[in-house]
Amino acid sequence: MSGKSGPAKWQGPRHVPATGTLVVDARNRVGEFRGAECGYWYLRPVTGGIEWQVTPGEVRPASPAQRLQAETARADARSRGELLRSPTRRFAFFNWTLRPDLDSDASPTTYVFRCLTLKDDDTECAATSPRSECPSEPQTWAFAHMREHPGHTSYAEEIERPWVMWRGDPT
Ligand SMILES: [Zn+2]
Repeated sequence: MSGKSGPAKWQGPRHVPATGTLVVDARNRVGEFRGAECGYWYLRPVTGGIEWQVTPGEVRPASPAQRLQAETARADARSRGELLRSPTRRFAFFNWTLRPDLDSDASPTTYVFRCLTLKDDDTECAATSPRSECPSEPQTWAFAHMREHPGHTSYAEEIERPWVMWRGDPT
């Protein structure tokens, strides 16, 4: 085990699509580009719902036929009232949707590892990694912590992810 494996590294500067651009991932799934974060891009199903994460190098633009198919699927979903499967509640005559905030001015998602191992006196070690915007960095910290304290094999990952309420059209 090298300890160097992990998520693919950011490939350097690359054209970032405009939000809403229809693209295709490595598994040929069409999605709307929603934003970039920590070396990954986030796509959303064309019929709404939860974003998924892709490696930028695997993404290609949707072909005209795929765009047409996606537009048709979106129109069908809209006519059946299925659009936006994210958690949605109706308050004060607006539809509100809660989703991860991927806007460029949102605070970044951050990751921390904490050692859960109990010490001889039955208290938690509680050593924590530096807070990082890349999940692999706290994992690297955990390996270093275990090298220093060989019995410390139990960890918790804390993720702080900004979410935003999105107000839809008046109903
Ligand atoms: Zn520890």
